[in-house]
Amino acid sequence: MANDIHVIRNASTIVGYDGNAQGHAYLSDGDIAFEANGFIHVGGRYDGAFTHEISGKDRMVLPGFVKVHCHSGEEPISKGLFEDEGTAALWGNALYEYSNLIEISDSAVEASLTVMLGDLMRSGVTTLVDIAGPHDSWLPTLAKSGARAYVAPGFREAAWHVEDSRRLDLIWDKGRGYEAFARALEVVDTARAHPSGRLGGIVSPSQVETCSADLLQAAAEAARNRNVPITVHAAQTMAEHEELMRRTGLTAVQYLEELGVLGEDLIIGHCIFVDGHSWTRQRTDIDLGLLAERRATVAHCPVTFSRSGMVLQSLGRYRRRGVNVALGTDSYPFNMLEEMRQAMICSRIAGRSVFDVGTADVFEAATLARRALGRSDIGRIALGAKADFLLVDLKHAAMQPIYDPLRNLLHCAAERSVDAVYVDGRPVVEKGKPIHLDYDGALAELQEAQNFAVRRLQANDPAGRPSSLLARRSLPAM
Ligand SMILES: [Zn+2]
Repeated sequence: MANDIHVIRNASTIVGYDGNAQGHAYLSDGDIAFEANGFIHVGGRYDGAFTHEISGKDRMVLPGFVKVHCHSGEEPISKGLFEDEGTAALWGNALYEYSNLIEISDSAVEASLTVMLGDLMRSGVTTLVDIAGPHDSWLPTLAKSGARAYVAPGFREAAWHVEDSRRLDLIWDKGRGYEAFARALEVVDTARAHPSGRLGGIVSPSQVETCSADLLQAAAEAARNRNVPITVHAAQTMAEHEELMRRTGLTAVQYLEELGVLGEDLIIGHCIFVDGHSWTRQRTDIDLGLLAERRATVAHCPVTFSRSGMVLQSLGRYRRRGVNVALGTDSYPFNMLEEMRQAMICSRIAGRSVFDVGTADVFEAATLARRALGRSDIGRIALGAKADFLLVDLKHAAMQPIYDPLRNLLHCAAERSVDAVYVDGRPVVEKGKPIHLDYDGALAELQEAQNFAVRRLQANDPAGRPSSLLARRSLPAM
């Protein structure tokens, strides 16, 4: 098996990587050859030896997507509960008051992770970052999926508390934060040593406002000692922005800079409420310059936030200012292609122009993610790069008629046209289904988990409201 050489013959379209132009480019009617270690031939005729041949007729070969931010854990079981809810006093955001009420049983964490992975991979994700609480089935399930995955075990000292829907309080427990930090480092080290060779670790203080300055600095130091990235949620909501302004007089980006945490190895979850954002009271324009100068990466996840009426202003503007922006999905629907479409639409609305961002810009953010994970061997179809790619069915109705296949994929077809996904030259999705995971079994378990979570809502609510009031159905019962 180790010496197998696969060739995809006469692919109608290949999105290859042009090393001179340092960007993606179309190749027509060429061959691709790969082995477990990576691509050995891209474009033109392959005349070398091979063990397997696949027809590339009516297919587009695309690099796998690199998704730098999402959460398994409670997120997959929250689907359908709070999309129409929010806390008015917290700028309409549901995060602090509602997400906090979701309880997941230990037995459901594997199912939750399995469904998330299946959905991500079906939409073309080959590398992902999962920010979650560590559990025994985390690494084994990620390895089983066949995807390339980074675990980012979250830790924090303060818990969110919303009393009477009025304000966000933080309840501090420093000892617990440091204990979770130590455990997180163990998990990061275990992932990096995993025999699959496809797992990695990221040091992940959960949120900028729930960790003390000394914990954020200790986390950055631990990451830099290991030469692994750091990720933290920052500038993700107005409640957090106001909390930091009150506490430090600085925006999240400026605070991270002051602590020495802002750097090339930092991935900032969301980074929406920078000083120039129209919702903030600041009238300065410092943050984007700092992000660009320090070469930090923004993990942009437009679907979840635009659902709450919040939008980054704007993806095109960040890019023009030289900020490295990569994409994530944060929460459900865990669909990278929908996320890419929404990234484009949100950017054009926030930037008030069709010229704000192009299809190729969003595709680049979803693949190269440039400095995000500190690697140049993924998100591209090039000699020596990892054989992580997807096959798109150009004959699918949603892809017809074809003038520019990438546009059809991003603006119209999405995952409906994704036939197969490969990681390390090995299929992980076939006929649109993840093949190494029991996705259907996990779905059934997820329903049980959601029933349990709904039953526990009232007990977890500080105000003791019933679930029918907390998670109101969209239509009344007739
Ligand atoms: Zn997040």
